[in-house]
Amino acid sequence: MKAWRLNSPNLIELADMDSQPVGEGCVKIKLRYSAVSATDLLLYDGKVPFEGPLVLGRQGVGMVTEVGDGVKTVVRGDIVAIRPFSACGGCLACKKGKFADCENKIIHGYTEDGFLCDFAVVRAEDVYKLPERIDKKSALFLEHIDIAISVINQLELERGEHIVINGATYLGLTIAQLALSCQAVPIVVDVDPVRLAVAERYVYYALDYTKVDVRKKILMITGGRMSETVVHLHSSAMPINQALALAGKRGRVAVAGWEYTADLSGIDGKYLLNNQLTMVGVNGSNNNFSAAINMLVNHTVQVDFDNLPEVTFAEVGKVFDGALRNENKYLYHRVVME
Ligand SMILES: [Zn+2]
Repeated sequence: MKAWRLNSPNLIELADMDSQPVGEGCVKIKLRYSAVSATDLLLYDGKVPFEGPLVLGRQGVGMVTEVGDGVKTVVRGDIVAIRPFSACGGCLACKKGKFADCENKIIHGYTEDGFLCDFAVVRAEDVYKLPERIDKKSALFLEHIDIAISVINQLELERGEHIVINGATYLGLTIAQLALSCQAVPIVVDVDPVRLAVAERYVYYALDYTKVDVRKKILMITGGRMSETVVHLHSSAMPINQALALAGKRGRVAVAGWEYTADLSGIDGKYLLNNQLTMVGVNGSNNNFSAAINMLVNHTVQVDFDNLPEVTFAEVGKVFDGALRNENKYLYHRVVME
């Protein structure tokens, strides 16, 4: 099998690896689509410690080519999406059915090999059969939808409420679409004209932080109350304190990110206390994959983003080369297998 393997920071190679046996309860997948995401680039940059060598890639969509003993959920030929984490099944959290909180969680493309490869062997319970009528490429965004569901749930977003989304990233636009489906009012803020132009396809309010007084504008939109909810994303346009200041009294704020991507060190505690804000953190996939697939099926969410870069499997190395020179402004790249 061929895989993009990170041997040490800044050293990635297309490696020829031994094919893995398909054990009991496991399936072999021939990958069709994968992605290069922020996690991969942070690992490559040496900003996140890891034990190498490591096959990169959190996302994987492909066809089942072999099934191990005892597998009843999928058959050869099924097109599936792979969940980026695997739970142990034995710990307290797993026994309660909270697999995303597993104490011994394996994360593909981080603690374990990922899916920037031609074939992968994974546990059958970590794959989700994709319905015929969804565009298989769109399944690369299941984790984004999964996280977006968690953000909306944690904020307890209600009909008619405003939700300021700080960052017109793919995750930001996914959250905006879920907010619309809850009949809330998303207000997306960014500095990047290309990202904002894409945002305008989805939302009525897409504000350029460098061109408008965002606080004043939101004061107007909300009739002077400021926003009931705010989401701060890791690659946001504004520093977190400026995002917090867009929340009204007793506002609810979600921070979605990872310890390596979200810098919360400068939070203005005084503002937080005086305004009695509630803050929640949302990190990684939370086992909402089935719900996320349904949202793609019924078009609650559309992820055919105009500015999504695409590369072939052979070109993956170039994405990382460019990252080193800071050329890849849009971190997320769709990877199409030849
Ligand atoms: Zn567990």
